[in-house]
Amino acid sequence: MALSREQIVEELIKIVGEDRVVTDEQVLKESSVDRFRRFEAYHGVFRMPFPAAVVNVQNTEEVEGVIRFANDNGVNVVPRTGHSATEGGLETALQNSIVVDGSGMNKIVNIDTYNMQATVQCGVSLQELDDRLREEGYTTGHSPQSKPLAQLGGLVATRSIGQFSTLYGGIEDMVVGLEAVFPNGGITRIKNVPRRAAGPDIRHVIIGNEGALCYITEVTVKIFKYFPENNRFLGYTLDHMKTGFEILREVMVNGYRPSVARLYDVEDGSYHFSHFAEGKCVLIFVTEGVKPIADATAAAIEEIVGGYDECEQVDPKLIERWFAHLNWDPANLVAEKNEIMETKNICNTTEISGNWGIIHEIYEVCMQRVRNEIPDLTLLGAHSSHSYLNGTNLYFVYFYNVVDCRPEEELTKYHLAIKKIIVDETIKAGGSMCHHHGVGKHRTQWIEKEYGSSYFILRTLKKAFDPNGIMNMGTIIPLED
Ligand SMILES: Cc1cc2nc3c(=O)[nH]c(=O)nc-3n(C[C@H](O)[C@H](O)[C@H](O)COP(=O)(O)OP(=O)(O)OC[C@H]3O[C@@H](n4cnc5c(N)ncnc54)[C@H](O)[C@@H]3O)c2cc1C
Repeated sequence: MALSREQIVEELIKIVGEDRVVTDEQVLKESSVDRFRRFEAYHGVFRMPFPAAVVNVQNTEEVEGVIRFANDNGVNVVPRTGHSATEGGLETALQNSIVVDGSGMNKIVNIDTYNMQATVQCGVSLQELDDRLREEGYTTGHSPQSKPLAQLGGLVATRSIGQFSTLYGGIEDMVVGLEAVFPNGGITRIKNVPRRAAGPDIRHVIIGNEGALCYITEVTVKIFKYFPENNRFLGYTLDHMKTGFEILREVMVNGYRPSVARLYDVEDGSYHFSHFAEGKCVLIFVTEGVKPIADATAAAIEEIVGGYDECEQVDPKLIERWFAHLNWDPANLVAEKNEIMETKNICNTTEISGNWGIIHEIYEVCMQRVRNEIPDLTLLGAHSSHSYLNGTNLYFVYFYNVVDCRPEEELTKYHLAIKKIIVDETIKAGGSMCHHHGVGKHRTQWIEKEYGSSYFILRTLKKAFDPNGIMNMGTIIPLED
């Protein structure tokens, strides 16, 4: 028989102690959602079942104890670290879930500058780790816009990516080894070695699991030497996204690795660069590393862009200044809430990827359909911010006024309706519906289409590693599946 809320709380207290099992109603409410439902939450509307408790774990053994208890008693566990999720991954979809918060596991365990790797507990903030490394002349190379809030557990769990990915890669290229707790396997460690060919790469069972297979307790990532004095900033205005995609492709297929390669359309560009690029698309590059490489990469990009007449170079200082303020500042959260409440205008995003051969078509068709089919838009734009040898991503950005509906209708009327258009068109064209924010709970409806015939591998993983169905149910795989 299922345990009552009171019984769950009693058992959790036995494992971690009373002071670390939180049952305050306001905390439980706020812990039932993430930024996906922020419009509702700002209006005091909380539609997900409140968790029975938030458990603040402080070491791997406690995580193991809590997960074992949950597995034995069929209690749904939602792992959490930085609480910056945007796709509903933190929503407590089932009654009497427990949110297991690892942000107290915040020790930097080891920085090994000889073997070029750093080991940290899951609750270490990326900002803290990277600041510490930079003081010593190193960097993780990872810089998502949410760097001030996001923590290593969540960053690995979501397959996150940062602004310098074109040089350093996504988190999947950075993770060396891991420690995690599986419901049916207890504490599991994957050792830190430069490469292995001893069967499949099982790190990838853990990276990107979004808390739906296991709880990540410790992470070892590569570190890189940091030479900010060599950074070169390049910026251009241009007329057409198609030209921008061609330039990005030419840079990538010729083997150049700028750390940043970004292309903004007119609308998105006007939001960021109205002071120098009104009515224009904007193309941005940063090159970095040791000086000969940074300079040679910048020179090659200048030469490539020079072959396109419509591109006009802008003062590199404008780009450098813009970058310095790009990261999200959590201090603005209150201001953001106040503005949304006052104006009823809210911004949301959807990010996808596609090969070079289809990306421009996806961009065009999505922009056209969203513009034609969705009411009350105040801005609709897109940018590409992560490029690869064979393609790039698109990050659609949309602001809309929420009018003529209740707060709880905002998602279906606007955000999910827009997401559906973008996901449908991307999958139809052969791209991926999800570039870096994770599937969460709101892209699960398209997960079978995303995977096609390989979906059985994903379902088998879930059944094998979470046989009792207690890990973040409704995330990646829909509840009813
Ligand atoms: C303003 C803003 C900008 C952003 N910019 C970027 C960006 O540039 N690049 C990018 O990739 N993302 C970005 N994000 C999304 C988000 O920051 C990332 O997904 C980030 O990796 C989440 O980390 P977190 O520690 O906050 O995780 P949380 O929000 O706590 O959790 C995210 C997911 O991971 C799971 N999880 C958390 N901790 C663990 C754990 N220890 N073990 C297992 N599962 C766990 C959760 O259950 C949830 O499903 C942005 C978000 C915001 C709000």
